[in-house]
Amino acid sequence: MRNKLADVLKAKGIVDRKVLDAIRTVPRHLFMESGFEGHAYQDKAFPIAADQTISQPYTVAFQSELLEVRPGDLILEIGTGSGYQTAILLQLKAKVYTIERQLELFKKTNLFFKKMGYRPKKVIFGDGYKGLPEIAPFDGIIVTAGAPEVPKALLSQLKVGGRLVIPVGLNEQIMTLYIRKSEKEFEKKELGAFRFVPLLQDKN
Ligand code: SAH
Repeated sequence: MRNKLADVLKAKGIVDRKVLDAIRTVPRHLFMESGFEGHAYQDKAFPIAADQTISQPYTVAFQSELLEVRPGDLILEIGTGSGYQTAILLQLKAKVYTIERQLELFKKTNLFFKKMGYRPKKVIFGDGYKGLPEIAPFDGIIVTAGAPEVPKALLSQLKVGGRLVIPVGLNEQIMTLYIRKSEKEFEKKELGAFRFVPLLQDKN
C-alpha cells in the first residue's frame, strides 16, 4: 500500500527519490488515530488528537522535497502533530528538533517516538513562532501549520544557504520557500495553494 501511495505522489509531481523512498518506508498507519488506520494510505489528511490533523501525504512529500534535506542536516520542525512528517525527516537522515504547542499531542507523540525507536534530537513543548534560538542556525525549517505571516525569528535562525518552507495565509495558504542568500538577503518562491490547521501564537 505504501508503494502505491508513493506511485500516486509521483504521478502528482513528486520527483525526489529519497522522499518517495521515505514514503515507502514510514508506516503512516501507526501515526493515525484508531478508527482511521484503514485509510492511512489514501492521499488525504485525517483528524488526530486536540482537533489537529495528520497532513496529507502529498503535502508532506512536497514540503520535504522543497527542504532539500541532506544527511546530517539540522532541521527544525514547527508542529510535531502526529510525528509523521518528523519520521519522514528522520528517514532522510536529518537531525530533527520538533516543537508542538498542544500538550496532549506533545506527550502522546513523544511517547510514541520512544516506543517506536524514532529518535529526533528533541521534541519540545512550546510555541514554534519563536523558533529555537539556543540551537539555531538551521539548514532547514519546516512549518506544518498555516502561518498568518512569516515569523521573523524563523528567518533569522536559518544558516546562509538554509531553507524555510512555510504555508502562509489565513483561510488558504500559499506554500512559500525562503532561501537565505546572505546575512541580509532572502530569495522567496511561492509554490501553490494548500490548506493547513492554523499556526497559533499564544496558548488559548
Ligand atoms: N506535521 C504534523 C502536522 C500536524 S498539524 C503531522 O504530519 O501530523 C499542525 C500542528 O501544528 C498541530 O499539531 C498544532 O498543534 C501545531 N501548532 C500550531 N501552532 C503551533 C505553534 N505556534 N508552535 C508549535 N506547534 C504549533
